[in-house]
Amino acid sequence: MEKVTEYFGSMVFDDRIMKATLSEKVYKSLKRTIDRGTPLDISVANAVAAAMKDWAIEKGATHYTHWFQPMTGVTAEKHDSFISPAPDGRVIMEFSGKELVKGEPDASSFPSGGLRATFEARGYTAWDPTSYAFIKDGTLYIPTAFCSYTGEALDKKVPLLRSMEAINKQALRILKLFGNTSVKSIKTSVGPEQEYFLVDRDMWKQRKDLIMTGRTLFGAMPPKGQEMDDHYFGSIKPRVAEYMADLDRELWKLGILAKTKHNEVAPAQHELAPIYDTTNIAADHNQLTMEVMQKVALRHNLVCLLHEKPFAGVNGSGKHNNWSISTDQGENLLSPGETPSENAQFLLFLAAVIKAVDDYQDLLRLSVATAGNDHRLGANEAPPAVISVFLGDELTAVLDAIEKDKPYGGTAKEKMKLGVDVLPQFSKDTTDRNRTSPFAFTGNKFEFRMLGSSNSISCANIHLNAAVAEVLRQFADKLEKAKDFNKALHDLIRKTIKDHKRIIFNGNGYDDAWIAEAEKRGLMNLKTTADAMPHICDKKNVEMLTSHGIFTEAEIFSRRDIMLENYIKTVNIEAVTMIDMARKEIIPAVAKFAADTASAVSVKKSVSKAACKYETGLVTQLSDLIDEMDSAASALEKAVAEFRTIEVIVEASEFIRDTVLPAMDALRAAADKAETVTAETYWPFPAYDKLLFGV
Ligand code: ADP
Ligand code: MG
Repeated sequence: MEKVTEYFGSMVFDDRIMKATLSEKVYKSLKRTIDRGTPLDISVANAVAAAMKDWAIEKGATHYTHWFQPMTGVTAEKHDSFISPAPDGRVIMEFSGKELVKGEPDASSFPSGGLRATFEARGYTAWDPTSYAFIKDGTLYIPTAFCSYTGEALDKKVPLLRSMEAINKQALRILKLFGNTSVKSIKTSVGPEQEYFLVDRDMWKQRKDLIMTGRTLFGAMPPKGQEMDDHYFGSIKPRVAEYMADLDRELWKLGILAKTKHNEVAPAQHELAPIYDTTNIAADHNQLTMEVMQKVALRHNLVCLLHEKPFAGVNGSGKHNNWSISTDQGENLLSPGETPSENAQFLLFLAAVIKAVDDYQDLLRLSVATAGNDHRLGANEAPPAVISVFLGDELTAVLDAIEKDKPYGGTAKEKMKLGVDVLPQFSKDTTDRNRTSPFAFTGNKFEFRMLGSSNSISCANIHLNAAVAEVLRQFADKLEKAKDFNKALHDLIRKTIKDHKRIIFNGNGYDDAWIAEAEKRGLMNLKTTADAMPHICDKKNVEMLTSHGIFTEAEIFSRRDIMLENYIKTVNIEAVTMIDMARKEIIPAVAKFAADTASAVSVKKSVSKAACKYETGLVTQLSDLIDEMDSAASALEKAVAEFRTIEVIVEASEFIRDTVLPAMDALRAAADKAETVTAETYWPFPAYDKLLFGV
C-alpha cells in the first residue's frame, strides 16, 4: 500500500509542484499574486500554464476546465481538450496563459436573476490563483470566479472573496489600535463538518422521489428509528468503512484534509470533518468533497444523500461551519489571550461577533435558507429558525461583570478592568457542548450550526464575514477618534454587551419556551425560506453589503430572486413527483391489495359461512384511504396549477409556503397511513426500514 504521506495532494498543482516546475522569477511573481493579489502579467501566466499543462499531461490528463460555482449551488465545468492540430495531421497539446486566466463558458443558462439581461449577455470565468488547480477524472480543474462582462458577480466565490477582503481591512484597523502593526493580513478560516446518508443503490433506483428530489416524499416510520441512540459514534459497518476509506483516499489525493469520520445520530447517517482552512479554500474543498462523496458511493453500489431531510421522522443532515479569524502570524483573534491587552483585544472581537449576529440575524438566517433546510430548522433536531449566540456560563458571567461593573466570580473583590486584568481561565469543556445553539462559541472559534448539508458554505460565510466587518468598522471609527483608548475600549465593550445581550442564550434551543422568550426579546423567527429571503433587500442590509463592496444593489436583488426561484422550483418538482407516485404507484398498489382482499372474501364466502369481518373491514379501510389519497392528490394538482399562474416571485414563494407544502403534507399523511395497513409485498417501493437499515 502506498503511504498517505506519499500520495497526499498528488493530484494538486500545489506549492511544491510550483516550486519544482517554475523558474524562480515566475514562481515569485505568482506567489505575489497569490499572497497579495498583485495582477499577473501575461508572460507569467504563459509560463504557469505551460508548467501546469506538462504536469497534468504527465498525470494522464487530456482536458482542462474552468471550474466555478454558479448560483445553482452545485459546481459547473466545461471541458476543453489540450489538443491543437499540427500541419502534418498530428496534434500537439497546448494550453496558453490566456486560456488559464480567462474562460468564456456559454453561460446563458446559469441563473443570473436578470443580471445578464440587464448588463451583458455573456459571462466569463477568471482564474482564482489562491485556490490550487487539481486533476480529477483526467481533467485539469482550474478554480475560477464567474462574472459578467460589467463585473457583476454571477457566482458564490466572487462575493466570498470580497467579504474576506472586507473583514481583512477592518480587522487590520482594530489590530493597529492595539499597537499591532506588523500583521499584514487577517483571514477567516472554516472547518465544515459534513453530514450525509448512505443508502443502497438498488433500493434507491426503485424510488422516484429519491431520484428526482433527493429525499423521500412518502414513507411511514419503521418500528425502530433513531430512538435507541445506538448509531451515534457506533462501530462502523464493513461496507460503510470500506466506503469511508476509499473516500478518504480520493480526498487526500486532492489535497483535502479529511480528518474525522463517524456515524451520526440517525441510522445510515454519517459525518466527515476536514481540518479547517482559509474560507475560500474550505469552500472549494467542501464543494469538491460533496462531489467526491457521491461519486465514490456509486463504486460501492451506494448512493450518498446530501439532502437536508431525506427521511421524515429521523434527524436530517446539516453542516457545522466552524469559523475563526486569525492573523498571517498565526494568532487566533477569537482565542482568549494570556496578557491583559490580549484579553481586551479578544473581548473586543468577541463583542463584535455578538453585535454582528444580533444586527444581522436576518442575513445569517437567509444565508442558510433553502427548501431542504426548512425541514430541519426548528424541528427539534437542528437549531431553531431563531438565531442566538451560545457563550457558556463562564464567559457570560465575565461579560455580565463588565456590563454591570461588578466583580467577577465568587471570591474576587476587584472589578474587571479591561486592559489591566487577565481574564479568568475558563475551561473549554463548558463552552463546548451545547448542540442546540445555532451559533456557539467553542473556546476559540464559533460554530454556526444552521447550514444545511447540501448548502455551499460560501453563502453563510459571505454574510458572516460581512456582518462582522461592518461592526469592526463601526468600532474602529469610534476607537480611532478616542483620546483615552483604554477608557473608550471599556465603554464600547460595555455598551455593546448591554445593547446586544438579548442575542445571548445558553439554554436549550429546542425548548418551545425559548421560542416564546426569543419573541419577547424581539429576536426574529424567520421560519421558512419564503419568510427569510426577502430580507436581503431590506434597506439596512443593502446599505451594509454595498458599502463594503460585497454586493452591488443589482446583485442583491438578483440573488433574492435566484434563491426564491430555487425554493419554488424545488418544491414544485417535489409536488409533481408526489402526484406522479401517488397516482401511478401508490394508489394502484393499494387498490390491487384491496381488490385481492375483496376477491379473497368472495372465495371464502363461497366455501364457508365465515363472516370475513377482518377482510371486509380492511377493504373498507383501504377504499377510504384510496379516496383520501385521491382527493389529496387532486387538491395538490389544483395547487400546482394555480401556482403556475403566479408571476411575481415573492408571491409565488408565499403560495408555495401557504398552499403547496400543506397540500403535500396532506397527501403524504394519507399515503403513509395506507402504507401501514397495506401488505408489504404490495407496496411499490422499498420502505423506510429497508432504506435505513439496508446497508
Ligand atoms: P465536533 O463534532 O466535536 O464539533 P469536529 O472535530 O467534528 O468537532 O469538527 C470540528 C471542526 O472545527 C473541524 O473541522 C476542525 O478543523 C475545525 N476547527 C478547529 N479549530 C478551528 C479554528 N480555529 N477555526 C476554524 N475551524 C476550526
Ligand atoms: Mg463533528
